[in-house]
Amino acid sequence: MAVRATVSRFPIDTDAREGSGLLWGVTVTPFAASDENGQSPAYGSGGDLLPRCENCWAYFNTYCELEQWSWSCSLCGNLNGLSSDAIERYSRPQSCAEMMSSFVDLELPPQEESDEAALEACPVYVAAIDLSSSEEFLELTKSALLAALEALAPGSLFGLATFSHKLGLYDVQGPIPVVKNVFIPPEAEGTLTIELEDVMPLLQFLAPVDTCKDRIASALETLRPTTSWERTTAAGQGLEGVLLGGRGFGVAMEALCGYLGSEYGNTFALARIFAFLSGPPDYGAGQLDTRRYGEQYASQRKDPDRALLPEQTPFYKDLAAVAVQAGVCVDVFAVTNEYTDLASLKFLSIESGGSLFLYTSTEDSTLPQDMYRMLSRPYAFGCVLRLRTSTEFKPGNSYGHFFPDPQYENVQHVICCDSYATYAYDFVFENNIGFSSKSDVPTLQIAFQYSVVVPPQELSNSGGVSTSRTKHHSLQRRLRIRTVQFGVAQNIHELYDSCDPEVVLSLLVHKVILASLEEGVREGRLLLQEWLVILAAQYNDAYKLVQYSNGNSIRSQLDVAFSQCPQLQSLPRLIFALLRNPLLRFHEEGVHPDYRIYLQCLFSALEPSSLHRAVYPVLTSYATPDKQAYPRHSLSRAALLTSGSPIFFLDAFTILIVFYSSTADQTLPFPPPHDCLLRTTINKLKKERCITPKLIFIRGGQDDASIFENFLIEEQDVDGSGLTSVMGFVSFLEDITQKVLEFMK
Ligand SMILES: [Zn+2]
Repeated sequence: MAVRATVSRFPIDTDAREGSGLLWGVTVTPFAASDENGQSPAYGSGGDLLPRCENCWAYFNTYCELEQWSWSCSLCGNLNGLSSDAIERYSRPQSCAEMMSSFVDLELPPQEESDEAALEACPVYVAAIDLSSSEEFLELTKSALLAALEALAPGSLFGLATFSHKLGLYDVQGPIPVVKNVFIPPEAEGTLTIELEDVMPLLQFLAPVDTCKDRIASALETLRPTTSWERTTAAGQGLEGVLLGGRGFGVAMEALCGYLGSEYGNTFALARIFAFLSGPPDYGAGQLDTRRYGEQYASQRKDPDRALLPEQTPFYKDLAAVAVQAGVCVDVFAVTNEYTDLASLKFLSIESGGSLFLYTSTEDSTLPQDMYRMLSRPYAFGCVLRLRTSTEFKPGNSYGHFFPDPQYENVQHVICCDSYATYAYDFVFENNIGFSSKSDVPTLQIAFQYSVVVPPQELSNSGGVSTSRTKHHSLQRRLRIRTVQFGVAQNIHELYDSCDPEVVLSLLVHKVILASLEEGVREGRLLLQEWLVILAAQYNDAYKLVQYSNGNSIRSQLDVAFSQCPQLQSLPRLIFALLRNPLLRFHEEGVHPDYRIYLQCLFSALEPSSLHRAVYPVLTSYATPDKQAYPRHSLSRAALLTSGSPIFFLDAFTILIVFYSSTADQTLPFPPPHDCLLRTTINKLKKERCITPKLIFIRGGQDDASIFENFLIEEQDVDGSGLTSVMGFVSFLEDITQKVLEFMK
């Protein structure tokens, strides 16, 4: 569990926080294997025995003062009694994880073992494939699923379903695959007239991956796109001569969630649906009207960003709630360059703990690699996240892809969570006293309760004779607790010096995404610029850089580059880059609304360092493929030209570009050979990433280099009104200076 704060020394009170212009909050990556410094948790058992404060319910931790019979809570100071068992345990501190580290991962006692429990422990995966699609789409989906089958843990169950104007369920457990179809009613309010359980019993549909891998593969081979004849016949008629796509996605998803959730009272421990979609749902319940996109192009009067960002129907948000209830996580893979209205669809994935992927072409799609990666890494599921603070302050807003608890404040549910998934919180003071007392130590405690599937082989290692004939997965419930203490900044300089700009960026990105969803992209941009203006004004004020008496010289004295404070210096560049990012660029500049939504979903789950790369890519240069020249360049054409390096490597998180300059020595091998330093670096980056970055090699002077050059943003205009005679980043700073002046007056 990694926890990073915007400032490692907290502001002393509300005045100090407001006076600094900085944000105050943390990012939390609960399932990260180590903390932000690379330290692993202390592992142990008996999570249920961990003492809790009778006043604030915080867990006992190493910061608590332990007496012989009692302990005082490090969050609220309450004195709590110790049970005789705890006294006994804490007399041997070396045997207790919670006495050794403020970061612990404790097993909770197993639930009773039964056949039913064994079945529930099986991870269940269902692929739902859009047949109202093309041969190319189906080819890509097949290769993605074949990759997935390789990554699935032994003992997993797999179901294959298809949708178009009908929903198809495959039974692959017999000698030849059998498909049973149910017609989806075309009406916008329709639901299936028959329970899926009656079409095919769930356990016939869900096949063990271990024994049925080949049969699943041959069933995939039989998939064909529905013909346009089939679609029009099903729809009854084309709409004014336009063929309906017949993509009954909404009803299919609704039925599948119910199907997986219905069996055995509750649910399987972990059920995931991979939904492969080749265009907008346009048939039956949950159909989306994509004409609103065309209308935006036609009329210039409305703010198009504002109009295309909200959902057009609550259908998928409601469906997400059903999925959460059933314990089903839905991953949506949209492979399309058509307007698909992800703004409406996204809720189904992000609220159920799934991911949203968008590929605009079947040709260079990384879908199979992304699926393999996603399934081969560890997952926590059925997670509950709870943040507690010491009494002087409390959480304000919370951000991220979770489901808030309907009853308890600051409790969040996450159906499925990987080691990258990151959440953010900001803080407010409980009152106007703040941390003014010398004894105040700002303290955070994050409790993360979760389940993991323990594969059969690990179980047999745990010793003892297995009584069960069939090896099966077991579920393990765990409690991970992290308690962190922070300092208090005694003055504004200490506050600025303790700033972590990457975490500030994370919180800002969450805020501007929310602002653009609620009020439009234009408002989001304004909020961001305003924030920088206020920060710069407060900074100039704090460092007494401006002599108010002499009005004429104010401008020349003003420092918007934060030259006195290295910790803040990267912020203007980050804000500039964020304003240049498709996340916040205008519709008129050609940012596709689905791509914007995809970026919003991606950015709001990234941990701070990854987000930093996505916003302001890392540019390095190499003298040869085996020798680095400079570890860091600013994203400026001028910087590139003056550096004189022949090879550049750009890491923009979703894309990696190797660029050979047109003046590079012709004897340098292109592309870089497989055993060189540059390749090793690339492979390491790819391996560590939650998504598969696209890798591109460009030879300057021969290949089209525009994709690389577009990343060199510092000479580009921030408003997107095209290249102007004024330089981009420089004129941006000029503009900020002007606004700071106005603000300070
Ligand atoms: Zn307490």
